[in-house]
Formats: sequence, C-alpha cells, structure tokens
Amino acid sequence: MREYEVMTEKGSKAIFHLFPELCKGCGLCKEKCPTGVLVWSDKLGVYGTPTVFLRDKEGCTGCGICQIVCPDCAIRVERLQRKKEH
Ligand code: SF4
Ligand code: SF4
Repeated sequence: MREYEVMTEKGSKAIFHLFPELCKGCGLCKEKCPTGVLVWSDKLGVYGTPTVFLRDKEGCTGCGICQIVCPDCAIRVERLQRKKEH
C-alpha cells in the first residue's frame, strides 16, 4: 500500500494533517475555514500548484470543515478532547 507524505501540526484543540501529494490547490478549505488559519505554502502539490498549510495551530478549532470540503481527501483533522475542569 502506498504511503503518502504527511505534514502535521499539533495545537491544543486539534491535530491537523495535510497530504500535499493529494492537494490540487483549489483553495476551498482556505475559503471555508472560519478562523482563516489556512494559507498558501511554497510546497507544490500534485498539479504543481501551491498547497495549503496551517499558519496558526492554536487558531484551529478542530471544526473539521476543511476536511469535509476538500474534494481530494488531502486534509484530516483530529479534534482533541478538552480535559475536564474540576
Ligand atoms: S479544522 Fe476548522 S479551524 Fe481548523 S483549519 Fe480546518 S476549517 Fe480551519
Ligand atoms: S480543499 Fe483540499 S485540494 Fe483544495 S486546497 Fe484545500 S487541501 Fe488542497
């Protein structure tokens, strides 16, 4: 099975994974991110277009919208559970 390169950013609310070899640079995730933390990177994707990256890992809420709208499954978001406050 083929293994894809993955770029991971871990914040306190979520872990964000981007698979640059799957990103076609359409910008949908960037448009729909409610906190505006996705930006273009210098790294090129599958069609030679820029891929996205997370510029502020603490600004990512883990909402998962970017993962849902990406047509090529290039993003995976793991939302982290908040610790219970006593
Ligand atoms: S999970 Fe939500 S806040 Fe985080 S990068 Fe994706 S759309 Fe933005
Ligand atoms: S929606 Fe997916 S394919 Fe489009 S720019 Fe974002 S990560 Fe890349």
